[in-house]
Order: sequence, then structure tokens, then C-alpha cells
Amino acid sequence: MTTVSRPADRAQALVRLLRERIVIIDGAMGTMIQAQRLGDADFRGERFRDHPRDLKGNNDLLALTQPALIESFHRQYFEAGADIVETNTFNSNAVSLADYGMEALVYEINLAAARLARQAADAVAGKEKRPTWVAGSLGPTSRTASMSRDVGDPGARQVTFDQLVASYYEQARGLLDGGVDLLLPETAFDTLNLKAALFAIQKLFADQGRTVPILASITFTQVGNDRMLTGQTVEACWNSIAHAPLLGVGINCSLGPEDMGPHLDELQRIAPLFVSCYPNAGLPDPLLPTGFPATPSDMAPVLGEWAKNGWLNIVGGCCGTTPEHIRAIADAVRGAAPRVPAKVEPYTRLSGWDALTLRPDTNFVNVGERTNVTGSPRFSKLVLAGDYEQAVAVARQQVTSGAQILDVNMDEGMLDSEAAMVRFLNLIAAEPDIAPVPVMIDSSKWSVIEAGLKCLQGKGIVNSISLKEGEAAFRERAKAPRASTARSRSARAPTRSSPRRWASHPRTSSSTPTS
Ligand SMILES: [Zn+2]
Repeated sequence: MTTVSRPADRAQALVRLLRERIVIIDGAMGTMIQAQRLGDADFRGERFRDHPRDLKGNNDLLALTQPALIESFHRQYFEAGADIVETNTFNSNAVSLADYGMEALVYEINLAAARLARQAADAVAGKEKRPTWVAGSLGPTSRTASMSRDVGDPGARQVTFDQLVASYYEQARGLLDGGVDLLLPETAFDTLNLKAALFAIQKLFADQGRTVPILASITFTQVGNDRMLTGQTVEACWNSIAHAPLLGVGINCSLGPEDMGPHLDELQRIAPLFVSCYPNAGLPDPLLPTGFPATPSDMAPVLGEWAKNGWLNIVGGCCGTTPEHIRAIADAVRGAAPRVPAKVEPYTRLSGWDALTLRPDTNFVNVGERTNVTGSPRFSKLVLAGDYEQAVAVARQQVTSGAQILDVNMDEGMLDSEAAMVRFLNLIAAEPDIAPVPVMIDSSKWSVIEAGLKCLQGKGIVNSISLKEGEAAFRERAKAPRASTARSRSARAPTRSSPRRWASHPRTSSSTPTS
């Protein structure tokens, strides 16, 4: 095989290799950089000598100021046996770079970093006569779209879906132009941030008329907790992103292999595509030189065991791992057959914090309808009066009384319906009694539906899309929920001739959403 080939050929070659054997991805970049003990002046280089903010620790800037160093790390990982290396761009998005006052450099840093990884990949491919790939790393950003960081206001958000989309779009554009073979949104602790990344990538692909394979990787940050930081289980998260055209899905970083095992097993059982895993070298310990305790000989046997279990398609290391770890991991999984993607039934799969699967034998599904201003005079009065605390209490009462899905409708002439939808969804997203169930967004106004979709971490339902503005607009809009994950339940006729189907039910109502 030619070693330096067109992107489409490289994508196909990767798929072939994934069917043949377990593919190796590299280890940590941060650990390699940390070992250099660089000072502020090293990060600044000549160009940023007078930058007004502290730049020590701005690892991604090294693509511009210490390019040879970054390229040498990529080469070391390839030489240790990695098939794929990740670009040094984990924080190179406008949201995170704003902390250094460098948000204007997003495109430039990603372009430069991707080119460095590409150079290393092509050099090693030529020398060792084997294919090599570059994955563009897109981190979770320093902010979370589905949780409040303001103790006084659970509905507050530091960042919106639209801001994240714009930020990821620019990053992905730089990575693609720099020649990456894959895009890898990783270390996702908030599925809404991840959905924004996937939405941005798909928009970029559509705008530019080109694609590369996408891998998505999530993380768990609390020991022994089967939920991600923002509340979702593995299956709920998978349901939220399963619509995206992914080559693979996986888990990375987290708290080392021990804690990750059960999550990975669950994911590999339900994901009908390739599965990746690259854990940290154990639990973080700031007193250790690399910050992490697990040595190559600690980690490799665990991953080797998972390979033998048939859980893995792509494996490597995250924080605290080095080329020595990657060499040991590659040795440990050599000869093990790659995982065969799971076969799954084509059921309707929704989620809030928890997954909700509608199977043929599922009985009627209860949809809580009291959080609907057109159907509940009491809820309407509360929202109009701005009493969101009591409005949230209505939602809580619906779920604790058995609603499996929560219908939310803010279509009221006296109300800023978009703002009310966003406020209410953001508030219930933080409620442990309410957030586990999927949301059904209900509005005759497209702008309200869209505003609602941008708040949902889970996979919700769009109650209906109006045909009032004609079939073409309807079709366009019917695609949008899919891009940001929700299902359309049905089309609503232009003149709403049928009575509101669920409004007459006293507490909850029943419906079988279409799949
Ligand atoms: Zn990590």
C-alpha cells in the first residue's frame, strides 16, 4: 500500500485495518510536555513575548512556538507502535483559549498543530512502510452547557449551544485544513457539549462538501459513579449521539482502567460501531512526577484482558501515559481479535439522564402534559407570573406520578415563548427527580422548538412540526432535530383541527411515539 495517500483512501484503509486487528492510538501529550519543564518564556517564544497574560501551561500554543518539540512527541508515539496520533489541540477552541486571551488564534493553532501531526505521520509512514493516521482532538471546552455553575441559579449557563457550535466549527475547520484524517471530540463530560461538537462538524462537512470519519469519546469523572458529570448513564449518552455519522464511540481519560471497565463493557454491548478506549494512568496524584500512578506494566495487562474479552477496536492511553505505556499496551493486545460491533434492534431510543427504549412489547408510554401552557391553566398562570419554582414543581409532580416523558409547551401569546422554553428546560435539567426522563418539545413555532432542542442533553422528541409554511420548509425542519438529536413525533396539520391529543387527560396521558 502507498503510505501517503488521499484522505478518502486513508479513511478506507483505516476501516479495513479496524476489521483486521485492534488499532493503537497514542498516549498523553500533556504528560510529554510537562516532562520538559518548560517555562513561561518557552511557551511565549518570540511572537508572544509581550502577550499580556500568563501563558505557562497553554500547551496548545506550542504548535506555534515550539513546533519541533510537538512533532517529535508525535514521532515518538508512532515509533512506540501507535497507528493514530492525536493533534495537540485539546483546548484549541475559542471558549477555552479565551482564558489566555487567544480566542482569535483558534484557526491558526489548529491548522499548525494538524500540519505537525501530519508531517510526523507521513514521515513515519514513509520510513516504516506502514499506514499512519492523524486524529484532530477536540476537547470538551472549559464550560458546560447543561449545568449551572451558579449556586444561586440552577438555570444559569456559562455557555450556549450556539456558542459551542461556533467554537467547534472554527476548530474543526483548522484541523481539516491542516490535513487530519479523523475528527475526535473527546473527554466529553457533558453530552450537550458533545452534541454541539457533532452538530458543528456535520455543518462544516455540509458547507465544504468533504468529510472525514468521526470518533466520539466520553469520560467519567467520579469514582464508582455510573453517571457522567452531567448525570447521564452510558446508554442515555449513546442514545443522545447515536444519530451522528460516527465511525466509532468510546471512553477516555476518566479515572484509570479499573474504574472504566464496567462503563466500557456497557458501551461495547450497545454500540453497533467500533469502540475505542484510552484511559488515564490511574487516579490522578499531584505528588507523582507524571501526576498519575499506573506504570506501563500496571496498565497493559488490564487492557490486554479487555482485548481478549472482545471489547476493543481502538486502544491507547490518556493522561499520565507515555510512549512506554503505548508500547506495552500494543504488545498486550497484539494477536487479540478486534471486537465485533454489537447488533442492535431498531427500536425508538430516547434519553434524559436515563435511557428510555420503546420496544414492541412496551405498553402505552405516559407523557406528562401538565407542563403545557395551552393544556394546563395552572401551569400557564405560574409561567406567566414568572414563578418558575412552582412551575418546576409541576414537572416534578408529573414525573414522580409516573410520566415517562415530559411534554413542555410555552405557546402563549403573552409569553416570550423561546425564553420561557429555554429557562424551563435549563431549570429541570438540574433536577434529579425530573431530569432522568426524556423531554418532548411542543410548539407550533419553529424558533421555539429549535431553542428547546439546544438545551437538551438527552435525546428528546419534537411533538410536531407545523406544515403551515409549506412542505419544503417542513422537510428542512424535519431534518434539523435529527442533526441535534430528537425525534419528530408527527406532523401537525396546518389548521389544528384535532383537539390537543393529550390535554384532556387528568394527570398523564398515553401515546406511542412513532419510530
Ligand atoms: Zn485524560
